[in-house]
Amino acid sequence: MEKMFGLMLLAVVVMITLSACGVFSKKEQPQTTKTILTFLGAPGSGKGTVAEQCVKDLGYATMSTGNLLREAVARGDELGKKAESFMKEGKLVPDELVMALVEEWLTKNMPKISTLVLDGYPRTAAQATLFIDLLKNKFPEVALRVVNIAISDDAIVARLADRLVCSSKPCQAVYSRKLLKDQNNLVCEKCGNPLIRREDDNETVVRNRLKVYADNVDPIIKVYKESGVRFDELNVEGKTVEAVFAEFKKLV
Ligand code: AMP
Repeated sequence: MEKMFGLMLLAVVVMITLSACGVFSKKEQPQTTKTILTFLGAPGSGKGTVAEQCVKDLGYATMSTGNLLREAVARGDELGKKAESFMKEGKLVPDELVMALVEEWLTKNMPKISTLVLDGYPRTAAQATLFIDLLKNKFPEVALRVVNIAISDDAIVARLADRLVCSSKPCQAVYSRKLLKDQNNLVCEKCGNPLIRREDDNETVVRNRLKVYADNVDPIIKVYKESGVRFDELNVEGKTVEAVFAEFKKLV
């Protein structure tokens, strides 16, 4: 009994000493007042849907590099022309083109945003490193958080076979065909324009995009873990959109 008391006393003394030496104190972090939330998840994992709900239900702003790139392609400017051939083949657009679009967008929009959800960016370890550096150097008021969406490839292929998007470039709303209210008239429920299948949603391109994703994701996770940003998992396999969002809200 006496021996145990002695050991406990010793443990308390060691803890107090370590604490006084600052061993348990948190690392100095710069003051952050804004958040950028980024999702990791294969194409078709539902990142865009969660991002959309963040905007509708939580009032977050959102930015999708896929949308920015499609807008650049539609404008037909120099950057859009360069990006187009990569996108048609389901390949990643080079990092420096995407980085230029992202930096331009953040510089213009971040001053009026408090929480931003990124959709589909960063998508490579190099993009993640560049992005973390960009935030550190140009947006020190922003804290980055990562949510990793977990789902199997088979569930994704089935989901994308059923996906329709609005043909209007400024709208780009996404639908599950089987959930549309009017199955005989495939039009956008928001703006009334026709719904179409994305060119890169066919199975060959999807399999290529999943491979590209799998090849890139581990090094990205490594970059995040090493940089110390907050990293959470969200498992969406077999879950409804509502169930996924309820779980997401518990995380944030
Ligand atoms: P998404 O709409 O996010 O599925 O993106 C569609 C296509 O745009 C992708 O297949 C890529 O060709 C391109 N893309 C979108 N975001 C990125 C990114 N962060 N890095 C490189 N390419 C991208």
